[in-house]
Amino acid sequence: MRRTILTGDRPTGPLHLGHYAGSLATRVELQHTHATYVLIADLQALTDHADRPEEIRHNVMEVALDYFAVGIDPAVSTIVVQSGVPELAELTGYFLNLVTVARLERNPTVKEEIRQKGFGGDIPAGFLVYPVSQAADITAFKAHVVPVGADQVPMIEQTAEIVRRFNRLYGAILVEPEALLPRVSRLPGIDGRSKMSKSLGNAIYLSDLPDVITDKVMRMYTDPRHARVEDPGQVEGNVVFTYLEAFDPDHAGLETLKERYRAGGLGDVALKHHLIDVLHTLLAPIRARRQDLAHEPEQILRILQEGTERGRTVARSTIAETRRAMHLDYQIVSEIPQAP
Ligand code: ATP
Ligand code: MG
Repeated sequence: MRRTILTGDRPTGPLHLGHYAGSLATRVELQHTHATYVLIADLQALTDHADRPEEIRHNVMEVALDYFAVGIDPAVSTIVVQSGVPELAELTGYFLNLVTVARLERNPTVKEEIRQKGFGGDIPAGFLVYPVSQAADITAFKAHVVPVGADQVPMIEQTAEIVRRFNRLYGAILVEPEALLPRVSRLPGIDGRSKMSKSLGNAIYLSDLPDVITDKVMRMYTDPRHARVEDPGQVEGNVVFTYLEAFDPDHAGLETLKERYRAGGLGDVALKHHLIDVLHTLLAPIRARRQDLAHEPEQILRILQEGTERGRTVARSTIAETRRAMHLDYQIVSEIPQAP
């Protein structure tokens, strides 16, 4: 039997190199051998953007454009808009009874995000429980595999715990998923400190123009102890090398560069020029496809509608099973009354 993949993104902005390294490249590779669902998580985006719904709506289209541009093929992958599948919210409601507030507060990724977003004591309840809504997304599609970046590992662990608890209490109907991590599972931002993130202003976007990419790479953090070209440099923890690790297809050439850098004699500017070349080669075709597709918003909307309908059928069937398992399948409301 073909295994199922579910993965997705928050429509809080266009997608960046972190998404590509963390998850997009794996999705494109596995979509032909797996039943693939890709979720545009607009409800999850609202958990920290409740005051900016127009922005989320706009970014649903941006994210969809990025998907097609990198090669997610709607003929084989099902792209689902989360808010179009209300069954996901229903499942979230059931799952909320299977986790404790203390457990949610221990989630290291959520803790870090709460700190970065500066919520202080005013944490939206929806934000604290978003890992539960992610558990609903993953299990509604009965996904076995979730290709994600390292920040998502606690979410998959949380999902597995919920699945085990649910199956023990109500019967074994849900699938316990596993995370699939890429080689570079946490791409740092150009600041070199935090992970590259749409919300932190440290991202190189897949849609950035060549000049913008050049400028961002030149501003990238490098080792301050590597002041002169002839000084020996540190490869480990060096952001430019982390990017090359993720995106330079010439692995043997990269090993040579590392040796030269460690020995001294390879300057940061020359190294950055190499990274700029690598990124231009990767992003030029993606940018071109994106520009072509941007002229066809109706077609994109149609693909999203079709995918969401297909996704809803799957989620409906899981919800029916869930209701049966939870003894909620009796018919109280048999008919929706017609408006006069
Ligand atoms: P936001 O700041 O709104 O949370 P984000 O940039 O963190 O946005 P998400 O939509 O939360 O992006 O993440 C979508 C997917 O991309 C997840 O699988 C996540 O692990 C992966 N991802 C995001 N940023 C990175 C990164 N810097 N390195 C590796 N993977 C990443
Ligand atoms: Mg995120």
